[in-house]
Amino acid sequence: MAVHLHEEDLPAGVLAPGPVAVDTETMGLVTPRDRLCLVQISDGGGDEHLVRFSPGSSYAAPNLKAVLADPARIKLYHFARFDLAAVQHYLGVMAAPVFCTKIASKLVRTYTDRHGLKDLVRELLGKEISKQQQSSDWGGPILSDAQMEYAASDVRHLHAMHAILVERLAREHRSEIAQACFDFLPARAKLDLAGWAERDIFSHE
Ligand code: MN
Repeated sequence: MAVHLHEEDLPAGVLAPGPVAVDTETMGLVTPRDRLCLVQISDGGGDEHLVRFSPGSSYAAPNLKAVLADPARIKLYHFARFDLAAVQHYLGVMAAPVFCTKIASKLVRTYTDRHGLKDLVRELLGKEISKQQQSSDWGGPILSDAQMEYAASDVRHLHAMHAILVERLAREHRSEIAQACFDFLPARAKLDLAGWAERDIFSHE
């Protein structure tokens, strides 16, 4: 089990077939303004790969894009909506099909309003992760050990949680509505990028 840092692209052939856990780190929450600095990806086998992009990056990354755009690979996220928009805007690919652990959590953990990654990892897996580096500077030339560990931990538990949440969705008869939500996420991300981030087009107003 190791964390691997790569510059500008994923090496070819480092991921086993099957679902991949994906997360991103950016300069902030305004996607067109705040550049994509890091894409974290894991095949669930125990290694995490961090792909870093420089301030002047061309975001070419053909190997990473091929994995993200592969329609045969499910991408596991926690709050996919943000990552899909960042990847679409900077890498130019829609990283679907999607399973979002935050949406799944909202559909089955109706007894709580705590759907953050830290809360979910604690309840479902009994493990503690730190969110201390969440708001740190991801754009610098050197990532600290704490940043690398934080970035890796954001994708480390998604496969295990996916397995549990699939069962919980089935138990509560919400698999179908969850899948419909996941299938809508690419459109939701495109609405965010097109200027409908705040306005709910489904509301009456
Ligand atoms: Mn993250």
